[in-house]
Amino acid sequence: MNSIRIPSSHPRYESLMLREKIVEAFHEGIVVAQGLIAHGRGECFDYLIGEKTTKPAQKAIQAAAAALLLAQYPVISVNGNTAALVAKQIVLLAKEINAKIEVNLFYRSHERELKIANLLRSYGADEVLGVGPDADATIPELHSERRRVSSRGILRADVVLVPLEDGDRTEALRKIGKFVIAIDLNPLSRTARAANITIVDNIVRAIPRLLDEVRKMKNLPRSELKKIVDEYNNEEVLKESLLEIWRNIEQWFAKGLTISFPK
Ligand code: ATP
Repeated sequence: MNSIRIPSSHPRYESLMLREKIVEAFHEGIVVAQGLIAHGRGECFDYLIGEKTTKPAQKAIQAAAAALLLAQYPVISVNGNTAALVAKQIVLLAKEINAKIEVNLFYRSHERELKIANLLRSYGADEVLGVGPDADATIPELHSERRRVSSRGILRADVVLVPLEDGDRTEALRKIGKFVIAIDLNPLSRTARAANITIVDNIVRAIPRLLDEVRKMKNLPRSELKKIVDEYNNEEVLKESLLEIWRNIEQWFAKGLTISFPK
């Protein structure tokens, strides 16, 4: 494997380390080649939002925590990139909110399902749905392998957390009445626009913050949690996320872009 040592002093250290993690997971058969491209698209939007959790993202994280705490049957959907980047935190979150974890792959193969499930189990997941014959149900309106879900998982869920999902499936989940929480760095993706709550942030920052928020809000009365969800407006939050990008661009214009060097 062609992995390189990145010095921690490198100005893009964190981003490069994430890239290394994804590439390593690709070599291990957890991430597919298309997942590498998806990661690159995410990196681009992360650059534009300033590689930090923005205020609108924090608002969405708070609403997502409330919705997950209110859920009767929450399910966290896990794909290859999610497993590669935040498997441990997903397991912690699932335990905290008593959610099921389901492997849900765009490019499904039994080998990859097993690898992802084993990785999640290595971090303490007691049960991982959506593997082999457990993906026994189908989402209407979707074709081929992409429609398979578990009847004990996503099919039964009232609230589904989809960190990284494609637009078709998000729309299909909405059409069958699921409350969908998405994490997607691109505020313009169909996933971002179709979800009930969209956290426009990198999953490596969003999931730990979601976990913190759930822990903080756990003892709030249901009426208060409901108020948070009812008052949340995804249209506004997506527009605020785009505005963050716009403001960053304005700042770059104001400050100037070129890097100066001593003559
Ligand atoms: P859609 O079908 O929803 O319009 P898409 O075709 O861009 O979107 P995919 O390529 O399936 O969807 O998914 C990649 C999405 O995941 C991109 O929107 C990308 O910004 C986002 N993404 C990639 N890596 C991360 C990450 N680490 N954290 C959050 N979002 C990410």
